[in-house]
Amino acid sequence: MQTLSSFVQDRWITGDGAATPLFNATTEEPLAEIRSGGIDFRAVVAHGRDVGGPALRALGFGERAAMLMALSKAIHAAREELIELSVANAGTTRSDAKFDIDGAIGTLAAYASFGAPLGDRRFLVDGSGVQLGRTARFWGEHVLVPRLGVAVHVNAFNFPAWNMMEKAACALLAGAPVIEKPGTPTALVAWRVAELVVKSGVLPAGAYQFIAGSVGDLLDHLGPQDGLAFTGSSATAAKLRGHANLVKHNVRVNLEADSLNCAILGADVDSSADAYGTFLSNVALDMTQKTGQKCTAVRRIFVPKDRVGDVRADLAATLAKTKVGDPAQAETRMGPLASANQQRDVRAGIQKLAAHAEVACGGAAPIRDKGYFVAPTLLVAKDGRDPAFHAEEVFGPCATILPYDGSVDGSPESAVALAALGGGGLVASLYSNDAPTIEKVVLGLAPWHGRVWVGSDKLADQGLPPGMVLPASIHGGPGRAGGGEELGGLRGLAFYLQRTAVQGFKGYVEASFGCAPGA
Ligand code: NAP
Repeated sequence: MQTLSSFVQDRWITGDGAATPLFNATTEEPLAEIRSGGIDFRAVVAHGRDVGGPALRALGFGERAAMLMALSKAIHAAREELIELSVANAGTTRSDAKFDIDGAIGTLAAYASFGAPLGDRRFLVDGSGVQLGRTARFWGEHVLVPRLGVAVHVNAFNFPAWNMMEKAACALLAGAPVIEKPGTPTALVAWRVAELVVKSGVLPAGAYQFIAGSVGDLLDHLGPQDGLAFTGSSATAAKLRGHANLVKHNVRVNLEADSLNCAILGADVDSSADAYGTFLSNVALDMTQKTGQKCTAVRRIFVPKDRVGDVRADLAATLAKTKVGDPAQAETRMGPLASANQQRDVRAGIQKLAAHAEVACGGAAPIRDKGYFVAPTLLVAKDGRDPAFHAEEVFGPCATILPYDGSVDGSPESAVALAALGGGGLVASLYSNDAPTIEKVVLGLAPWHGRVWVGSDKLADQGLPPGMVLPASIHGGPGRAGGGEELGGLRGLAFYLQRTAVQGFKGYVEASFGCAPGA
């Protein structure tokens, strides 16, 4: 049995202690194991800070961007092998595996293109300079400079390649050495990506470290120049936010947590509209892609109350076409969940929600003897305000139709008011062809969501679905979604940089720190 090793202090180390097995999600056969003990995390942090950080900061943004492009190519060269590993370990179909792996390759390439025009610059200028005194002699500029610590990335199991590399792309471009910890159930994919990164020889010593298994006492060694970026459940996010050492040293923390994302069918979109077809296919895709294990997947579907019956029938018919089975088979459209724990949690979640709803299709019952399978499950709630649907994230192929009264605001049962009951989300999608409705609803949704996606007849034949996270747009959301922010082009570097106001005589301040081309 393969034991996944960690890459720390520029060498691979196989941990000791109790073994945690990783399984084939379809056959339940063990694939590999992880042993977490035996790593000196104080030395890991020191190595990143003292060796990797200075080496990265000695380079300009352009050179670091070139490294990201080289990493993108190194991972792309092993794309087929990674897809196969993902099918086995994560239970993804080939298409779902590509979503993760191409996401990693594409995000690295995107950040290479964002960084390349910055050339040999070593800091960024934020906005225009400002006159601070009675005359323009006293002048201010804002600069963003690399911080001097490590970037610890604790990642979720559902995107083992993308989640690690989207974080690494921003940190490395900013000049921060990374320590990557993948989610354990699918760590085989992440481990192979780590091996490709190391073998490529692209990064300087100390710039990239990888922990297979538990992070032990790593967080106890972080200080004021370090950062922790986390992706995972709200429960773990809450634990990390309150971690005593992180609180004591005001260590920067970015949390990407769970989210009860919603889709809103506008009252103006009837079943003959192109936008209605887009709505049906996007909701069905979100429910079944990666077996619903997508942080941006739709969990709540808000439908005008007089349309609930039609939408229920149309969505159930669309979902019925989803072939569930062995993800290695070309005709399969939805594979199993990633782990036995996931299957247990998703089945329990469906049962809990189903107690408050009608089951239009699917349900919690097992559908195969082997493998972590669950059927695509569509629920229909009687009451759109029922708190059960605004509290529980079922991280699998399950969503609920919730009726709303058709108005856009001014009513506690409007779609905007119901969306807010989720307490903050990553993405809300709205389907409408009416400009005033779009403006009102977007402004109502925005305070509660990191991203608002608007579908209309005008975009029916193009535009990427709302579940896709794009490197040029920000990802993250307020409240329950963690309150964090990632990506968004060069905005994604801010977490790893210190924004400092420089004040003084305009001649000096502007000459060194004023807005320069590409800044
Ligand atoms: P999780 O159980 O919270 O685990 C997330 C990561 O935290 C894993 O690497 C896990 O390691 C680690 N971890 C758990 N306890 C820890 C602790 N006490 N100290 C340090 N690290 C700890 O979440 P998950 O099951 O992997 O992921 C599913 C959840 O992630 C869903 O709720 C989903 O909505 C959310 N998610 C959010 C986003 C986003 O961008 N907002 C993206 C993807 C997923 P082990 O695996 O070794 O336990």
